[in-house]
Amino acid sequence: MPSATMNAQETAETRWAKIIQGTVDDIGETAAEDVDDQKRAESIAIQIAFKDVKKAIEHNKALTPLQDDGKPDVEEWNKRLAAIGECSWISCPWLFGECYMYRCIQRILNSSRHWQNYDIFKRQKDSTFVKSRAAVEELASRYMQIVADTGLAQNEIKEEAKKMLFAEMTEIALWGNATDLSLLANLTLEDLQNLQGREAIQKSQRNIVDNDGVDVWAYLQRTAGQASRQIDIVLDNAGFELFTDVLYAAYLLDAGIATSVRLHTKEFPWFVSDVIPSDIESLFEHLDSSECFPDREYLIQLVPRLRKFFQSGALTTTSDPFWTTPFSLHEMLAKAPALFKELQNSYLAIFKGDLNYHKLTRDGLWPHTTTYEEALGPLGKHSGVKVLALRTNKSDVCVGVSSQRQVDKLNEEAPGGAWIKNGKYAVVSFNEGQ
Ligand SMILES: [Mg+2]
Repeated sequence: MPSATMNAQETAETRWAKIIQGTVDDIGETAAEDVDDQKRAESIAIQIAFKDVKKAIEHNKALTPLQDDGKPDVEEWNKRLAAIGECSWISCPWLFGECYMYRCIQRILNSSRHWQNYDIFKRQKDSTFVKSRAAVEELASRYMQIVADTGLAQNEIKEEAKKMLFAEMTEIALWGNATDLSLLANLTLEDLQNLQGREAIQKSQRNIVDNDGVDVWAYLQRTAGQASRQIDIVLDNAGFELFTDVLYAAYLLDAGIATSVRLHTKEFPWFVSDVIPSDIESLFEHLDSSECFPDREYLIQLVPRLRKFFQSGALTTTSDPFWTTPFSLHEMLAKAPALFKELQNSYLAIFKGDLNYHKLTRDGLWPHTTTYEEALGPLGKHSGVKVLALRTNKSDVCVGVSSQRQVDKLNEEAPGGAWIKNGKYAVVSFNEGQ
């Protein structure tokens, strides 16, 4: 077990103040367009409160207990802060610090009269999604071609073809994770677009530093006779990634791999681009818009197909307050036992993205050759949870690399630990919890 977890310093200095400035600018822009005088007036006080948080970060002030905003989670936050002890924005553990920042923003909004349900990051999420136009249209075309060619669930498809299709769809969901607005500072738009196309996905396969895709397929084949096969996807980002996740869910249903799929969202705006419930409808509003996506040839077939899964209840969404706490998933059994049980009962629990990966691995500074099973702790051996992580590597933690020789090779290929941080490498890590 590693002795230390990640420290917040680097990220506090480079990203957090910028993220808060984004919220100040956003609310200013929205208020300027609003006709309600009271709402506009209140936006000034909110901007001042946001700026105070920004100043506290820039001046490395001590973290102070969260003020009560009437929400039931305040006590838990403050208990955790007390347990950490005296710490500042820079000296605090990274995982707590960044989670706490989003909760501070939400406290300010919760304490307002007119802005309680306002999504402070919606503008950023929307504008990035629209930039993914080419990849959305391409994937819509690819998916409808697959459906037309094979019918997906047909028995006559050869086993090898089914396996390849599973790998392709899984990798689409994997690389969809390259779009993460809280970490976007590290990637140019050109980088993003390069990561999103199908050809790029195929080329990127060699950049999966721990790839258990074959083991997942073997598990699914072995258990295909089970009557109830609910797959849970703990989402990361809205926009393009959510589109790939919904597409992946549709594929899992269409191919008969899952009998139902449940998407887990956050309860309030989190890590800039994470999916909150309203992002699902927003996804469809965008997909329906010929202004956002002018090439309608395949979208016109695909979108009603996706909607139908939601309407029939085969595809559902859920939020659990545990996802917006600062706890790692090693603490799930103690802090959210009902949710833990639900995941034990799940046919497959898929965790998308960087934050989920940090939480799965307790944000530990593990040697890269540590097995995924070991880093999962209570979610690993004997947990009964089938845990699949689909994550492009965007910060520090990465386990499951097969050997030190492989680690050395990666360090040579992408020096300075770039393979853990630049979003161009990834993991498809699976553990059956046996
Ligand atoms: Mg995210």
